Amino acid sequence: MPEQWAALGRDGPRDECGVFGVYAPGHDVSRLAYFALYALQHRGQESAGIAAADRGGHIITRRELGLVSQVFTENDLRTLSGDLAIAHVRYSTTGSNAWENSQPVQRSEGVGGSTREIALAHNGNLTNALELHRELVEQGVTFNSTSDSEIVAALLASQRASEPEDAIAEVLPRLRGAFSIVAMTRDRVLAFRDPHGVRPLSIGVLDARDGEDGAAGAPRYCVASESCAFDIIGARHLREVEPGEIVTLGEDGLRSRMVVSGSRRAFCVFEHIYFARPDSRMAGQALQVSRARMGEILWHEAPVEADLVIAVPDSGNAAARGLARAAGLPQDDGFVKNRYVARTFIQPGQELRKHGLRLKFNPLPEVIAGKRLIVVDDSIVRGNTTRQIVQMLRDAGAAEIHMRVSAPPIKHPCHYGIDMSTREEMIAHGRSTDQIASELGCDSLHYLSLEGVYEAIGAGAGGRGSHCVAFFSGVYPLGGTEEANGQYALEGELPLVQA
Ligand code: SF4
Repeated sequence: MPEQWAALGRDGPRDECGVFGVYAPGHDVSRLAYFALYALQHRGQESAGIAAADRGGHIITRRELGLVSQVFTENDLRTLSGDLAIAHVRYSTTGSNAWENSQPVQRSEGVGGSTREIALAHNGNLTNALELHRELVEQGVTFNSTSDSEIVAALLASQRASEPEDAIAEVLPRLRGAFSIVAMTRDRVLAFRDPHGVRPLSIGVLDARDGEDGAAGAPRYCVASESCAFDIIGARHLREVEPGEIVTLGEDGLRSRMVVSGSRRAFCVFEHIYFARPDSRMAGQALQVSRARMGEILWHEAPVEADLVIAVPDSGNAAARGLARAAGLPQDDGFVKNRYVARTFIQPGQELRKHGLRLKFNPLPEVIAGKRLIVVDDSIVRGNTTRQIVQMLRDAGAAEIHMRVSAPPIKHPCHYGIDMSTREEMIAHGRSTDQIASELGCDSLHYLSLEGVYEAIGAGAGGRGSHCVAFFSGVYPLGGTEEANGQYALEGELPLVQA
């Protein structure tokens, strides 16, 4: 989102990236990739790309800055036709939003007298990117981008192993941090996930089709950051890629190889709370259901006399529904949201700037006036948006405003691929809940407890000890400290960009 709009929209953590891969001779793989990216658009709006190949042919990549709908034309999809494809939407977490840093990245290296071609799409953040980059530069490797994803592509392309799975098995244990990666060679798609499973990655199976190339009716597979990408292309969610696992999609179907097992799991708990789409399934449960459950628990943790429940759209919708249900209170739309704000690049100018957030949320006085409101949102980071929302509701005549947040207070930044404010900018840093309520101008404030989050996401998610909760605790399960966060930038060069 352009900087000027960040001030007008949500000030919460921004999504990272979305990845997709498919091996399906006989299917229109570029179109499958395009619509899968469409479903994953919420994970990144700065650039989009698809790489595709016929089995054994050269890999062709089209990537550009912009939304999926802006980047690809019919002609692009025709040019990208083939048997296999990978795709990516990106939100840069640091550094420049340059074309060079869009993905999939593509590398060709001469290995053992032949050329290895590889394209790669990455969601996450390598915490040892600087170290690996230095090592490769010393070996004479040159880079076209400042992305840590190209480091992984360069490492893979330069391995001596003849099979790509062996190359990944050699490289995977050397990567530190969070990564869910989809890669392709000329004849197969490969997906692998860091040993802690921080970022999501799932496997889907496409409907078998009679008469398609290869074994008649043989299942064809795809992988995606979220299962909502499978729904849109008619695929079925099979399972998650396990942490430390390499999955190959090729002529012989689906193959799996476990490279690192037994590491402490550290799935990002914020995928459950906010990042992933509510229609995606994680840990066996649709997120819409677990988010509504968060709202129910919120009510039981902090009931209050009120007339009406409203959500901060859309992020608070599911939790508001759950809270209203548990409280036996009516729920209504307190705001109309303009869904196209991020699509205009015209700055509002000084005169309109004072209306700030109204460009995105317009309150409905007819619904709000004279009411004691419970206002539900999923998180508060800097508090600027919430402060403006509270003021808008007061201006619209709300009698009381009780904020309910379906996540614990966010006090620490993310090192694993999420764009965040600094600790000092976070409203919960060094303040009590009462102090925050007073800064926001609301009558009461309650954050969902971490126990409440675990209860809502269910036992299938693994419970305490299976997640990263560093946002709330400051304990970083994959290492790294807040003080060390800046060191990943290359000294004297462009900062590394994380996918
Ligand atoms: S710090 Fe942990 S919980 Fe927060 S966004 Fe990053 S990975 Fe997720």
